[in-house]
Amino acid sequence: MSLCIRNGNIIDGEGIVFHNKDILIKNNLIVDINTNLAHKADRIIDASNLWVLPGLIDAHCHLREPGFEYKEDISSGTASAAAGGFTSIACMPNTLPAIDNAAMVEYIKKKAATQGIVRVYPIGAITLGREGKTMVEMGEMKEAGAVALSDDGDPVVDPNTMRLALEYAKQFGLLLISHCEDKSLVAQGVMNEGYMSTLLGLKGISRAAEEVMVARDIILSEITACPIHIAHVSTKGAVDIIRQAKSRGVPVTCETAPHYFSATDEWVEGYDTNTKVNPPLRTEEDLVAIKEGLKDGTIDIIATDHAPHHRDEKEVEYDMAASGISGFETAFSLSYTHLVETGILSLEELVAKLSSIPAKILGIPGGVLKAGLPADITIVDINREYEVDRDHFYSKGKNTPFHGKRLKGKIAYTIVGGKIVYDEEDAK
Ligand SMILES: [Zn+2]
Repeated sequence: MSLCIRNGNIIDGEGIVFHNKDILIKNNLIVDINTNLAHKADRIIDASNLWVLPGLIDAHCHLREPGFEYKEDISSGTASAAAGGFTSIACMPNTLPAIDNAAMVEYIKKKAATQGIVRVYPIGAITLGREGKTMVEMGEMKEAGAVALSDDGDPVVDPNTMRLALEYAKQFGLLLISHCEDKSLVAQGVMNEGYMSTLLGLKGISRAAEEVMVARDIILSEITACPIHIAHVSTKGAVDIIRQAKSRGVPVTCETAPHYFSATDEWVEGYDTNTKVNPPLRTEEDLVAIKEGLKDGTIDIIATDHAPHHRDEKEVEYDMAASGISGFETAFSLSYTHLVETGILSLEELVAKLSSIPAKILGIPGGVLKAGLPADITIVDINREYEVDRDHFYSKGKNTPFHGKRLKGKIAYTIVGGKIVYDEEDAK
């Protein structure tokens, strides 16, 4: 079976943009990028007026399997990822049991190979059971296929454990991803601490809860010269700390998630529990700083932090509701609408933050369209406006504060290894 993507505008992920060219795919691989290739293919996708991108790569998501299949599983999660344009995703280990040993890493990989429709890269835990005490067997987990380590969902509370983890992880060539949250500063907080939390009578979470831990982990990264990746950056202060660290050469990288540049704590008014997320939605000032950080490169990548939950876990009082946003299926559109349409990033810069840079940070293939490489491709219609409808999500998690919002830029096709895994025409 051969496939030709005809007459598209192609971003190759290495700095070249081709206009009105064809991509020919055979045996799962890209074999040529040129003009007039359509006659060589069995099937043709007409990409006129569309953009053809290296498959999007998500460095941070939650597939919930095993243990929480009522929220999401590998089958529904990867279908959701495909609908969001993602061809490769890295899933966090806060499952039950946690992904904290080689057998669990292999289990996820095997399940993903048989039931998943996009490439799944497991992230292993840093400590057994994500309890922050005993380090995992890093070497065995690396060998089994873990691409990074994180206790995401919880911080590694003990600084010395974090320091040792950084040193061990470096020896094994594993990236450490830090969920920066000082639980004692969070206390009983459920939303950002400030004017809105006072107005709404909800307990606030100080920005300091995030920033104290970002500062700690950067200091540990600096003294050990070990790389660290900071997950879901949400505050102006955290962006400033990371910017300063990068300027003095600390090996730190970081991500933000689309909701931190698309929504603020004002959205909590009305107590919609779909606005509850950890770290919480911040203020306009933070949102502006996140956009500046994306623009000047302080924030390396955009990750979804796709965190699906069951309806029952959100249809409760705000204080009691689970934290998280079902993020795969709105990530590209939110990013395009709020970053590219507003002139903060070019489309090429956005694609780098959603594809080639996450590939580099995780050390996985992808992010480039070139003859000889696997055909992992995302095709988008940047002119298409639509209304977000969570009832059409492929994810089991319908928890999004963006339901009913009008966004621009829609995924048309997602192709993994030459196989069309999402076609908007057939979408539900
Ligand atoms: Zn986290």
